[in-house]
Amino acid sequence: KPGAAPKPSPVIFAVANQKGGVGKTTTSVNLAASFAAAEYRTLLVDCDPQGNASSGVGVRRGSFELSLYDVLIGRAALTDAIVPTEVPLLGVVPATQDLVAAELELVDADDRAVRLRNALRPQLAGYDYVVLDCPPSLGLLTLNALTAAHRVLVPLQCEYYALEGLTHLMATIDRVRSVFNAELTVEGVVLTMYDGRNSLTHQVADEVKAHFRVFDAIIPRNVKLSEAPSHGKPALLYDAQSKGAQGYLSLAREILDGPPAAAADTKKKPRGD
Ligand code: ADP
Ligand code: MG
Repeated sequence: KPGAAPKPSPVIFAVANQKGGVGKTTTSVNLAASFAAAEYRTLLVDCDPQGNASSGVGVRRGSFELSLYDVLIGRAALTDAIVPTEVPLLGVVPATQDLVAAELELVDADDRAVRLRNALRPQLAGYDYVVLDCPPSLGLLTLNALTAAHRVLVPLQCEYYALEGLTHLMATIDRVRSVFNAELTVEGVVLTMYDGRNSLTHQVADEVKAHFRVFDAIIPRNVKLSEAPSHGKPALLYDAQSKGAQGYLSLAREILDGPPAAAADTKKKPRGD
């Protein structure tokens, strides 16, 4: 369309946090849907054997032939594994339990950490944004996602031990940066399942803000976000007016608008490099 904002070159986001149940998949699905709703061609890649991102966009087990497993073991090209979704402009590379086997089968391969990167990066001509939903560990699948990505988004639930987990994640990101992927940056922390009535929430949020860029868009605890996956829909298609759907639209807008000039890297403390 003449006059439309120019599309950026493809940007790959890894949504990572080794803690389970913090909102990685919910963030991946709903952020990807929000990018697509903003008319960006978006690809969601399910990197978790649980396959929740796949089912979250309505792609059910048994309804597809190829999955990320076939891509990682070199049996299929990434483009052949993309399944369209009900959301216009949003495709998904689904995952199944097979993906557990990929971790084992690749353990001796020299290129085990760069499989996803090599499969993904040359195949992005048709896309503006890619969202990689990571599993709840810092194992080979997350390593592949971090190696393939340009930027990391970290969903965080404001609980007592939330920051402790972040230390491990940041150390892993630093290692990936120095060995495989020098351009990797931490885009920011997304506060999820936010309950402002809980005073611990505010304490943890303040602590996180002292160390990282935290997005202004905060994702509230919202029942529509937890119901939508059982309908195989992102919240935008399930209840677009819900606080959850609107929260992720705001997050997408904030990411699309780019970081404030002073926050080019998200670590506020000097890193000594
Ligand atoms: P992860 O991928 O990190 O394991 P999920 O995105 O699967 O986490 O979320 C864990 C559970 O919490 C899921 O049942 C999900 O539906 C629910 N959930 C996630 N975010 C929210 C939210 N903002 N409000 C309510 N429920 C949520
Ligand atoms: Mg998940």
